[in-house]
Amino acid sequence: MSDIKKFKFSIIAPVYNEVEFLEKFLLEIQSELKELDLIESTEVIFVNDGSNDGSTEKIDILVNKNPGKVFGVHLARNFGAPSAITAGIFYSSGDAVIIMDSDGQDDPQAFEKFLNLWRKGYDVVYAIRKSRKEGWLFKVLAWLFYRILSASSQIPLPLDAGNYSLLDRKVVEAIKQCPERNRYLPGLRSWVGFKQIGVEVERRARYDKKNRVGFRGLWTLAMNAFFSFSYVPIFLFRIAGILSLLLCIGLILFALYHKFITGLAVTAWASQLITTSFFGGINLLGIGLLGEYIARIYDEVKQRPIFICARTSGFEDKNSSNHR
Ligand code: UDP
Ligand code: MG
Repeated sequence: MSDIKKFKFSIIAPVYNEVEFLEKFLLEIQSELKELDLIESTEVIFVNDGSNDGSTEKIDILVNKNPGKVFGVHLARNFGAPSAITAGIFYSSGDAVIIMDSDGQDDPQAFEKFLNLWRKGYDVVYAIRKSRKEGWLFKVLAWLFYRILSASSQIPLPLDAGNYSLLDRKVVEAIKQCPERNRYLPGLRSWVGFKQIGVEVERRARYDKKNRVGFRGLWTLAMNAFFSFSYVPIFLFRIAGILSLLLCIGLILFALYHKFITGLAVTAWASQLITTSFFGGINLLGIGLLGEYIARIYDEVKQRPIFICARTSGFEDKNSSNHR
């Protein structure tokens, strides 16, 4: 890594109500950067995603204490982690960019592995979560999510990989070209292509054990992942349609057989109730599923920005050509 010092690096950390940990987080990454002798060539960008716990003020203090090294981007409200990371991407200027959570779950000791692989020519190095510190139900759901998504996606998506990754500048520029509002970043990162590799990294516990995204947020993220990278739901519905049609033909033959051969009548109310509720259910499910795609199309055609920045701190002296 002898030539590594000639490059510039950016670290992007989305922040939503992490005030208690921010200083420790920064110290931890700075000590790792010192060890790698990269402290002078690395900018740390905190993207404050509408925090209301004092993170805003804390970020400004850290920016003032570390002029030219630490920067703050304060979004106008809470846009969600994928939008916050996207904002950071737009404000970053490093030759390589590292994206990591600001809650202590992503271990900075992985930087060295990331950088080594980057110098070997990989454009994307992403962390594969080796072990998770969450409860068993969460682990099972996460395990299932990655496997179903990967099996149904149009492009290969790595298993057990989240946001923690290093991206070469050309990948950053490619992701900046992706305009979609419903963003699943590990998917976009794979979609852009280039040379990618995963490394196993231990996923640590959150400093406060309180997940900021929450179940609803995770559900939205999971749905965005599916509907953005897979048409399998529509395909499955076609299969369900064909199967129910076959079932219906079967039922007709069954009724005709009894009417003309055995002479036993199938009671009308029972058969009607079964078929109408069956098809009613299938139809409603299908409409709901189409609605998921249509709502996403609607989000896209509105063309609203992915994030809105209220103000920045620390960028005053920097060339602003790279910024939105
Ligand atoms: N985060 C954010 N906006 C949100 C929710 C979370 O910027 O609306 C940040 C949060 O501060 C953290 C990262 O995104 O640094 C990931 O959030 P969290 O740890 O809750 O999610 P998980 O690690 O479970 O993916
Ligand atoms: Mg986290």
